[in-house]
Amino acid sequence: MKKEDIEALGLLLSTPKKIAIIPHRSPDGDAMGSTLALYHFLLKLNHKPVVIAPNEFPDFLAWLPGSDKVLIFEKDKENTTKMLQESELIFTLDFNALHRTGEMEHVLNKLQTTFVMIDHHQSPDDFAQFTYSDTNFGSTCEMIYNFISLLGKKDQLDQTIATCIYTGILTDSGSFRFPKTTGTTHRIIADLIDLGAENTTIPTLLFDNNSYDRLQLLGKALQNMKVFPEYKTTYISLSQEELDTFHYVKGDTEGIVNYGLTIKGIHFAAIFIEHKDEKIIKISFRSQGDFDVNQFAREHFSGGGHINAAGGKSNLSLKDTIAKFEKLITQIKI
Ligand code: 5GP
Ligand code: MN
Repeated sequence: MKKEDIEALGLLLSTPKKIAIIPHRSPDGDAMGSTLALYHFLLKLNHKPVVIAPNEFPDFLAWLPGSDKVLIFEKDKENTTKMLQESELIFTLDFNALHRTGEMEHVLNKLQTTFVMIDHHQSPDDFAQFTYSDTNFGSTCEMIYNFISLLGKKDQLDQTIATCIYTGILTDSGSFRFPKTTGTTHRIIADLIDLGAENTTIPTLLFDNNSYDRLQLLGKALQNMKVFPEYKTTYISLSQEELDTFHYVKGDTEGIVNYGLTIKGIHFAAIFIEHKDEKIIKISFRSQGDFDVNQFAREHFSGGGHINAAGGKSNLSLKDTIAKFEKLITQIKI
């Protein structure tokens, strides 16, 4: 972040303010971890912060400190719109374009408030007065740690903030495996553990909370997997009917796409999930190595993300979406 931006933000944060903090729609561990870390930090600086998520967050994040205070825009539009309008400062975390907030975009677009974006996705839109955007970071949570450090407020870090930051770094780095995990990341993690982040408990809370139905759905997904060794590609599909059979709840399909990459020699994995209520197929892409799934998702499936992890959607049927994908993989170099 530019020196003059940090100075200006330091000044803005030197007097108590009403501050809204917003993650992207369908927030993940990094989006929730970063918004809640910032929430607890701003509380300590005597501000009046509120986290307003566009829609519900998954159950496996409901233990995060402060998650019970998170307001859900799509469940209470009137009240949350009013709070957004009354905010003196708005932080948008872990996304690069306002449309990532879904319907909330229309409210945000009309506001004259000062926006601060902190994010690690490619090609950020130009909607914020202050943009701290850097794709070299593996997570927005690592950037929040840096942001607090740049403000000269590391003395405010405590166990609660450390727990939130630890969560986002852990989830967005695939448990410290993905390429953007650096020595600096690990030094920050060490600091967070010293501050009280429980490094053996947090992964258990996040990952060891399967329901029987969720494991059965995973079994179905793995059975549905198609492998194309000649294109180093694999995909999984789940129809609405299959989701219903296993009583799908939000978060159940999280991470399933990664199984594709665990097959030896596979560099590109996708999952297609039918959402009949929204009339879309939600897609996740993952890659290993140089194949840029962000570009692929942008070009072909109205999406985006990072080089090795991206998402998108399709308005075609599940069958037609898959047919389109099968054709595309014969035309690209993976
Ligand atoms: P996931 O596949 O876990 O939903 O998302 C992987 C990455 O791609 C995340 O960083 C997420 O924010 C991003 N992403 C997912 N869906 C979309 C989308 O529709 N548009 C854009 N621009 N990014 C997405
Ligand atoms: Mn992230």
